[in-house]
Amino acid sequence: QSTAAAAAVAYNSKNVPVHQTKLFINNEFVESVSGKRFEVINPATGDLICDVAEADKEDVDIAVAAARKAVEYGSPWRTMDASQRGRLMYKWADAIERDLDYIAALETLDNGKPLNDSRGADLPLVINTLRYFAGWCDKIQGKTIPSDGSNFVYTRHEPVGVVGGITPWNFPLGMFAWKIAPILACGNTCVMKVAEQTPLTALYVAKLAKEVGFPEGVINVLAGYGPTAGRAIAYHMDIEKVGFTGSTEVGKLVQEASAKSNLKRVTLELGGKSPNIIFDDCDLEQAVAASHMGVFFNVGQCCCAGTRIYVQDTMYEKFVERMVQKAQQDRILGDPYDPRTNHGPQIDDVQLNKILGLVESGIQQGASLQTGGAQHGEKGYYMQPTVFAEVQDHMDISTQEIFGPVMQISSFKDTDEVIERANNSQYGLAAAVFTKNVDRMYHMCTALKAGNMWGNTYNVLVPQSPFGGFKQSGFGRDLGEYALSHYTEVKCVSIAVPQKNS
Ligand code: NAD
Repeated sequence: QSTAAAAAVAYNSKNVPVHQTKLFINNEFVESVSGKRFEVINPATGDLICDVAEADKEDVDIAVAAARKAVEYGSPWRTMDASQRGRLMYKWADAIERDLDYIAALETLDNGKPLNDSRGADLPLVINTLRYFAGWCDKIQGKTIPSDGSNFVYTRHEPVGVVGGITPWNFPLGMFAWKIAPILACGNTCVMKVAEQTPLTALYVAKLAKEVGFPEGVINVLAGYGPTAGRAIAYHMDIEKVGFTGSTEVGKLVQEASAKSNLKRVTLELGGKSPNIIFDDCDLEQAVAASHMGVFFNVGQCCCAGTRIYVQDTMYEKFVERMVQKAQQDRILGDPYDPRTNHGPQIDDVQLNKILGLVESGIQQGASLQTGGAQHGEKGYYMQPTVFAEVQDHMDISTQEIFGPVMQISSFKDTDEVIERANNSQYGLAAAVFTKNVDRMYHMCTALKAGNMWGNTYNVLVPQSPFGGFKQSGFGRDLGEYALSHYTEVKCVSIAVPQKNS
């Protein structure tokens, strides 16, 4: 808190300089081919921050050509020791850590999230993710295989080649790091297309990548819109893989683009509507605290937000009362640079209006609005922390991803009922269970359909553990050793030997 306070003294929304507003291609900052630029808005005020070069198909082509050259046979990147690749990644993480206060302030300007979160959550996750994958570089190993016949048979895990990364705005640098770290660790080169709402921090850290010595063309960072620059990546004939994080709707377009172009490998981290199940034998205050953060952290702009809360009927009333109190007392809305603030604005007016529309539908469909429900203030895109009780499973607020600070609570009677209701969703990203009964905990953790299960806690997101979804929450995993498998091709080599010698 005290360091955050010091950073808050150093930075506010008026004095955060923006150094990089051009596209980063082949280790240079360049204007777009069209010369077009687009505006970047501060969500806390609605004011213009700056404009940024707008990449389109032609810029993607140039960036892909640079990335292709950088990953070709004989290139500096391909002839570099894997351990040296790791050293570069460690140095990049160190440079980001050196500039942490500035980058956190820039993230807050661009995204609106409280400086406490940028400094305390987003930037540490970026740095730790780069370091975790840096350590993997020289530990990605194939196998020798005792195959039939007189052959020496082994596998190599080779880079896929040029990888396209497409990332969202909710954790702008965090999602950038989740994608780029395994891409680089496995020896690929990349063209990263960051979200149009929040391009600034990725462009800044691109400068640091050059500073620490990444060869030309290995890292390319483009700002631009989805249907133009993003689409050009998804359809590109010379990109071998796309790692995508964003909505389920756009994820389907990316998958379709792969089939219609070159069958590039695709992994998708998509939306969610995660169930959070509270049994009456839990520690109530532990469940209240974790469930509160499970919805309100990052003002609900988390793909794994635990917005469908099912509470056992015997504890239901007490739980709703505590959640409402907590939403009213603990959320501090305000200037994101104020160290006391823990609830910033939504990303833009489009998202705010979508949230307000869904809240209205909840009221119309008969849910009980306990607190919040409206925009806060007149400047920026702030949304009151909102709690609905008596939510029924068919309501839109129970089935659709709201991506805002809106909690849905309903009650259940027994285990089988709640398992069925919790699993009755097109999504399967995360799920949580609160209980002190160990048998019940294990049982629930096998029964729920989700890529990430949390017991008596929420939002455990660390570089070592894989993260990703079942069902329409996507496929493939970010983070952890599992992420590596998506960024290498397995080559099986068989070489004749004069005599078998087992
Ligand atoms: P979005 O799908 O609209 O955008 C994500 C990215 O895709 C952006 O960079 C955008 O420019 C690009 N894009 C848009 N249209 C495209 C197209 N036709 N072709 C290629 N790229 C295109 O999502 P959003 O609104 O920016 O982010 C919110 C969504 O992301 C939520 O649904 C959330 O659940 C999801 N999300 C998922 C995870 C996860 O890990 N599973 C993490 C964060 C966010």
